[in-house]
Amino acid sequence: MTAVPKVVVVGAGIAGLGAAWRLARAGVDVTVLEASERPGGRALSLRGDGYTFDVSNPVLSTADRCVHQWIEEVGLRDEMLPLRPVLPATVYHGQIRDVDARTQLGVLKMPGVKWLDALRLVRLPRLMSRYGSAIDPDAPERAADLDDRSLGDFGRLYFGKSLLNRWLAPMVTRTTLGDPDETSRVLFLHTWRHERGARLGLPRAGLGELPQAAADQLEVRYNVRVARVAEVAGGRVGVTVTDLAAARGPRERVREADAVIVATSAAEARVIADPVLSAAERDALGQIRRLPSVVLSCALRRPFHSHCKLVCVPRDEDSPIDSVLLEPGARGSRVPEGRGLATVRATAAFSAANSHLTNDTLEKDLLAAFERIRHDVRNAIESVRLFRVPDAVTEFGVGHYRVVAGLERVFDDHHERGRRVYFAGDYLSGPSLEASLRSGHVAADRLLSG
Ligand SMILES: Cc1cc2nc3c(=O)[nH]c(=O)nc-3n(C[C@H](O)[C@H](O)[C@H](O)COP(=O)(O)OP(=O)(O)OC[C@H]3O[C@@H](n4cnc5c(N)ncnc54)[C@H](O)[C@@H]3O)c2cc1C
Repeated sequence: MTAVPKVVVVGAGIAGLGAAWRLARAGVDVTVLEASERPGGRALSLRGDGYTFDVSNPVLSTADRCVHQWIEEVGLRDEMLPLRPVLPATVYHGQIRDVDARTQLGVLKMPGVKWLDALRLVRLPRLMSRYGSAIDPDAPERAADLDDRSLGDFGRLYFGKSLLNRWLAPMVTRTTLGDPDETSRVLFLHTWRHERGARLGLPRAGLGELPQAAADQLEVRYNVRVARVAEVAGGRVGVTVTDLAAARGPRERVREADAVIVATSAAEARVIADPVLSAAERDALGQIRRLPSVVLSCALRRPFHSHCKLVCVPRDEDSPIDSVLLEPGARGSRVPEGRGLATVRATAAFSAANSHLTNDTLEKDLLAAFERIRHDVRNAIESVRLFRVPDAVTEFGVGHYRVVAGLERVFDDHHERGRRVYFAGDYLSGPSLEASLRSGHVAADRLLSG
């Protein structure tokens, strides 16, 4: 490398910006190239009528240490912290009921949990100590050997159906939106280890403020699509970019860097980095899928509760809704004082099966389902907005961690042989902001130590 290494990061999502932030603080000359006209990728906030609407779920946990530290570092402490407490709730026979699923005692008290199943909770500490050493948030691939069964199978076998439906599944589907019978049990083990005893909370400002503030302090080029990343003479990396905003139409050129971090989706990384990838890497990246999401944001004339509530809808309630986030308005928050916001997230199964429907029909179906758990909703709604995201969340299905372990092995092998192209993104770590950020940090640390 040259005295001050020049690094290009592809993608200004949470992973890419997290990597660039770390590198810039280590004195590296880093440029982020982003295809769209704004930073944040899927962590997108939109403003309107005094509200901030987050397309991705903005609920954080007090255990999200990397996100908290980043908020402080970028200077958003006063705007975003302390988090507004979010109380967890469930739906039981169509009624919203408060629960605390983050402690064993709280789980025991959950409505709908059979006491015989509840007794099986004593197995949890034993299981966690047996599997614990493999559950490392900075190296999720270490759990590859445990990635042999679905959360559904694991939950029924060790804890019983009622605990699976009411406790294990909602803990992970609120971020993955996926089917517990397809989701890897490893994701639950990670989530439980991470969130046990922690509290949920909402940043006061929209999540999109965070990547925006970080990007404002970094060198980020927008409307620049990276088409290719390839090794060139002298051990450097050539990055072929298309300037989408060029006055005389899109223009392609090549810039060189000492190293590159590709922080896009797995599918995009496979295309961009094709010249440097081995067949095994192409195959692994090709196996990683994303699930669609439909989100209905309802601006309310009045708040439903005096505190924020995250209502997870168990799959046995037979609803197209995975979760509803209820926020009362407050001064300096995402919702105007005296008003409320309800963010309704559909299950991935509903979003996938109904992708052909019009916005009006989807809106009607989700509102009807919301009304089944909150009967007074129609009178309270002022306006609604529907967001459809076809590639919203990375699927952490059974086998995903084994695929990641295989990828990491080949990555290490290539780095030892001098490859200067690194990868980051939620698909390598976990389906959450905290995990995406960590994946950026891991990529930056590898680059710095390489
Ligand atoms: C509807 C929805 C619900 C979600 N729910 C949750 C949740 O409950 N909890 C949670 O924690 N997370 C949730 N997420 C996921 C969370 O937002 C993501 O995990 C996180 O934002 C991913 O960050 P990333 O940097 O890995 O990827 P991305 O955000 O996808 O960033 C990739 C960036 O790369 C850019 N890019 C792609 N190709 C190129 C190219 N060729 N050249 C240049 N730039 C390129 C993209 O424009 C994008 O900005 C949700 C997301 C959505 C959309």
